[in-house]
Amino acid sequence: MPEMLEVEFYRVLAERALGRRIAAVDAPDDWFLKRGLDARTVASALVGARFTAARRIGKLLLLDTERRRRTGPVLGLRFGMTGRLLVDAAAGIEHLEFASARDEPKWDRFTVRFGDGGELRVRDARRLGGVELDPDEDRLGRDAMAITPAALRAALDGSKAPLKARLMDQARVAGMGNLLTDETLWRAGLDPARPAGSLTDVERRRLHRHLTGTVAELLARGGSHTGDLHLARVRGGLCPRDGTPLERRKVGGRTTYSCPVHQR
Ligand SMILES: [Zn+2]
Repeated sequence: MPEMLEVEFYRVLAERALGRRIAAVDAPDDWFLKRGLDARTVASALVGARFTAARRIGKLLLLDTERRRRTGPVLGLRFGMTGRLLVDAAAGIEHLEFASARDEPKWDRFTVRFGDGGELRVRDARRLGGVELDPDEDRLGRDAMAITPAALRAALDGSKAPLKARLMDQARVAGMGNLLTDETLWRAGLDPARPAGSLTDVERRRLHRHLTGTVAELLARGGSHTGDLHLARVRGGLCPRDGTPLERRKVGGRTTYSCPVHQR
């Protein structure tokens, strides 16, 4: 599914849409419009405007708008399990690990058409993504790509919840998906099931270093499925560091792979 890294690729792609006059909006699927939004409202909010910035918090893509030099609403795009962003003919990522290899125009759930003939569209087979205007950005924690040691400390301190669950709580740290979290904790040598508040200062600093490092490295490699642990995430998989059979269990409701020897 598109995790934060995939949405970051979409954000970079969406920069191609900036500054172009919006001529029309196709929103054929009411289900895809969230928080009471309807096709007429989103069209009247966007037609005649331009996108001025493409931002991202966690897995939420945000497009700021402006019309006649006045700030308009923010368009929020979510990509669920199978959503893809396309601008003109280009896709943000050619191939989604968990998406169907098929690519059907009938999966276009939301399209913004520009006056120059191009368009920005969200194509989503399973329709688990969505569109909203002025999403509540304050409900999200600090983005994992830019989180500071102090913000990570605030997200973990005093919590008895499993470390993995806390890292994936989007209100605490925005953007951490299942693969990215398992990879980060494997690299940091920390047990995903440990209470989040039990980390020592040294462990928390190590986690911060591996968190930001893993995000940057997997972004450069091309996505959340490019981690060192990824190919070992199968029944009978061995720890790529020390060869120990990996433990497979549910932590925070998610299937989790970890090494019982070097992750403590
Ligand atoms: Zn190991």
